[in-house]
Amino acid sequence: MNKAARRFVNESLSYKLLGDEALSQKDHASYIVFDDNIRRAKMKESPKDAKLWGAVDEGKEMSYAVYGNSIEEAVKKAGLDPKALKATIEQYNKLAPFGKDPLGRKSLSSGYGKPVAIVKPPFVIMPATAGMIGTYCGVRIDFEAHVIDVFGERINGLYAAGEMTGGIHGAAYMTGTAFGKALSFGHLAADVIAKSE
Ligand SMILES: Cc1cc2nc3c(=O)[nH]c(=O)nc-3n(C[C@H](O)[C@H](O)[C@H](O)COP(=O)(O)OP(=O)(O)OC[C@H]3O[C@@H](n4cnc5c(N)ncnc54)[C@H](O)[C@@H]3O)c2cc1C
Repeated sequence: MNKAARRFVNESLSYKLLGDEALSQKDHASYIVFDDNIRRAKMKESPKDAKLWGAVDEGKEMSYAVYGNSIEEAVKKAGLDPKALKATIEQYNKLAPFGKDPLGRKSLSSGYGKPVAIVKPPFVIMPATAGMIGTYCGVRIDFEAHVIDVFGERINGLYAAGEMTGGIHGAAYMTGTAFGKALSFGHLAADVIAKSE
């Protein structure tokens, strides 16, 4: 949600699209809100999350999030409007888990899993913003990883692979495929170079 404690996007979209929407909010600020059920599910999913969020079970509070045994307590610490946030969560709980979300959220993430209601304390609110770690732009290459010039011709002896070749999916990003792109086109380029010598 944003500074007005309102949701502004279907949160199950890819993080590339979420980032665009988050950056367009006031002060580029957004807030991730979840409850203990979601925290525990995430901890089961990955050791990294278990380490990150397990501290809550030891009574520790991380500096980058606020906690509350009620929504009101958490929202007060986060400095958001309690009435607006409560209304946002109530509406979300009533609609999203039943496939009726007005923002179109039907899955937990990227088409997988079901959205779950935010009901179990402690509630966590984490301020967030988007960071740029890639441009999704770069040089054009062909099927043998040769770099292509502005006239559509190969530049002899120049090859590219990975991040500097930009996106391979068009407007968005399919999570996890960047390594695949770097490794497969890197391997291909090396193969073509070795054969051409
Ligand atoms: C936080 C984060 C999380 C990510 N998570 C995932 C993920 O889960 N799954 C996934 O598929 N992708 C992920 N990516 C994207 C993925 O890491 C990159 O697409 C991939 O590493 C690109 O590989 P690359 O070899 O093209 O470039 P890089 O890994 O950036 O390698 C380029 C290398 O060139 C070196 N270099 C730069 N300039 C020079 C120079 N002038 N001389 C010599 N060396 C130079 C750099 O130091 C670097 O070592 C993530 C990226 C980030 C930043």
